[in-house]
Amino acid sequence: MNVDYIIVGCGLASIAFCEQLRSHHKTFVVFDDTSQQSSIVAAGLYNPVTLKRFTEVWEADTQLALAMPYYAKLEQLLQIKLDYKLRILRRFASVEEQNLWYSATDKPLLEAYLSTQIIKTNFEGIHSPFGFGEVFQAGRVDTSALISGYKKYLIQHECLFDERFQYEDLKAHNQSINYKHITSKNIVFAEGFGVKNNPFFQDIPLNGTKGEIIEVFAPGLNIEFAIKSSVFLIPLGNHHYNVGATYNWNDKTNQTTQAASEDLSKKLKQFLKVPFEVVAQKAGIRPTTKDRRPLVGRHSAHKNMFVLNGLGSRGVMISPYVAHALFKHIEDNQTLPNAIDVNRFSVRQV
Ligand SMILES: Cc1cc2nc3c(=O)[nH]c(=O)nc-3n(C[C@H](O)[C@H](O)[C@H](O)COP(=O)(O)OP(=O)(O)OC[C@H]3O[C@@H](n4cnc5c(N)ncnc54)[C@H](O)[C@@H]3O)c2cc1C
Repeated sequence: MNVDYIIVGCGLASIAFCEQLRSHHKTFVVFDDTSQQSSIVAAGLYNPVTLKRFTEVWEADTQLALAMPYYAKLEQLLQIKLDYKLRILRRFASVEEQNLWYSATDKPLLEAYLSTQIIKTNFEGIHSPFGFGEVFQAGRVDTSALISGYKKYLIQHECLFDERFQYEDLKAHNQSINYKHITSKNIVFAEGFGVKNNPFFQDIPLNGTKGEIIEVFAPGLNIEFAIKSSVFLIPLGNHHYNVGATYNWNDKTNQTTQAASEDLSKKLKQFLKVPFEVVAQKAGIRPTTKDRRPLVGRHSAHKNMFVLNGLGSRGVMISPYVAHALFKHIEDNQTLPNAIDVNRFSVRQV
């Protein structure tokens, strides 16, 4: 079998790159073993503002401009709903936070994204003595539906191998990559935290931050917007809500924990004043990096080997942006922005 690309991984990063390949009529195969869960368990939120400090998210305008048509195109391709536009209300904990919000609305980069009014409505079941600020141009992508829908599409087109990619069987030559019965021009590794097992990119500075989310059923709560307080509360419909997420830098497993469930429930109770029941829990490892920027680019020794990783906690918005940049880099020889280029770090690559 001859293809233009082998892709390892089928998460948000890989799918965005596959879409670049599809739209440029390149042939490819994808390997995925479901060993990582990040894209499947993600809350799927996209929003252009850092809600802790009220600053603009890195390259937010550019990323949103690429992401919105990208998800619309995927909805058409897969015939499923993925993009749920969502109001996000930032709950203020104090007058100081209200003032910080007001100052942020004056910044040119943020004015399109932040409400200048403070919302003082008392929503039933929500304790909010200092009100809320609203973030515009935000939403939620159903990433779980995206991954399963996209895999189904790949299976229909006979280009998904539902198995572990065995690095030891990879032979890299100057002009081609050989893997078992497949000859390819290029290979792109998009394994999320799984890249830690990849001998070719083992030393890239990827940390991995475990995140857990609980799903709660709150029959007394009926809101259609997300609330950001010390945790996010995100409506799923029928009185079900996602609550998350935790950040754990030590545990690198995909197992859910009682401690995370208790921590999230405790934070939720600080502003949710109606009873709720935890009905589900999920965990995954975010592919985070020390400078909070992606890791994208060419292997220093193997010219047809690439990495697409480091999407951190914002894979929904970042994935179309980095996939586009990598494709242009490989096919059109365009320079990668230094902020995402894996070679901004001097790392050993075998
Ligand atoms: C709890 C939680 C909440 C989150 N919430 C949000 C959010 O609201 N908004 C947002 O934008 N982001 C969110 N994120 C982050 C987001 O999930 C990540 O940025 C993104 O999913 C990373 O995608 P990826 O494709 O790089 O990696 P992954 O999703 O980890 O995908 C990598 C894939 O590679 C496969 N793989 C690895 N090694 C191999 C191998 N050897 N052979 C075959 N297959 C292999 C894995 O099975 C996996 O399918 C959240 C993450 C977590 C954990």
